[in-house]
Amino acid sequence: MSGGVGDRLPTLGGDARPRLPWQPGGRGRHHDGVTDADPRDPAYPRTAGTAGTVAELDALVVDCCACPRLVAWREEVAVVKRAAFRDETYWARPAPGFGDASARILVVGLAPAAHGANRTGRMFTGDRSGDFLFASLHRTGFASQPTSTHAGDGLTLTGLRLTAPVRCAPPANLPRPDERRRCGPWLGRELELVDPDVVVVLGGFGWTALLATLAEQGWVVPRPRPRFGHGAEVTLTGPGARTLTLLGCFHVSQQNTFTGRLTPAMLDAVLVRARDLAGLAGL
Ligand code: SF4
Repeated sequence: MSGGVGDRLPTLGGDARPRLPWQPGGRGRHHDGVTDADPRDPAYPRTAGTAGTVAELDALVVDCCACPRLVAWREEVAVVKRAAFRDETYWARPAPGFGDASARILVVGLAPAAHGANRTGRMFTGDRSGDFLFASLHRTGFASQPTSTHAGDGLTLTGLRLTAPVRCAPPANLPRPDERRRCGPWLGRELELVDPDVVVVLGGFGWTALLATLAEQGWVVPRPRPRFGHGAEVTLTGPGARTLTLLGCFHVSQQNTFTGRLTPAMLDAVLVRARDLAGLAGL
């Protein structure tokens, strides 16, 4: 068989697209058992279940093209670009999770921003939301530096990992329910592999998406579903009597941070609470 997965991808950007640190082999990497999977197949996200490690999961997700609307948008944005980034080559692919693969805390957002993670290839990197979040992660001891500008900037996270229920930038920052469902296996497998104690959920969309994913994975999720709110705290029981505490936090979007709905102190307090619940007080 000639081409691999990478050969069947859309051609935009070609081999000029940046290779990220977690991609030593660049495009076309395969995990045993999924070499024939077509990234455009709506069932492709189910290959997440074959990933035995977080690194394998990250390598699989970046090839995904299962949502035609989102693939078209992420690539259109990469062609049109924002004037400030006109000389950059956009990532224009799904953004994998970023941070500690054995994190005790997972931070779940919404989806990559068109000119943020869709440009840089790293969650929350290169936009105002990320500026706000990483400054707080640095103040609370999780991030090695207060800024996150590009994938090779040396930033590391300790004890914490960033991810999202939808991995491709959606138009108007609004994924459709069917796209959230299709993308669910990536988050589901990440939850299994990382196995965190605490999930900080940024915003109501992430909260709803996470509860749906956990229910699909066999976690006991009450009906009616626990309501999202800033400071909401819910502990769920899952397969094997595992427990997981969800902490709600307003999203770090400019809509919230510019208006003062979410202040640095409010975000710091949620992260400190997560750190305490996860037993990472020594960070
Ligand atoms: S949103 Fe998720 S399922 Fe859809 S193309 Fe992107 S990675 Fe694949």
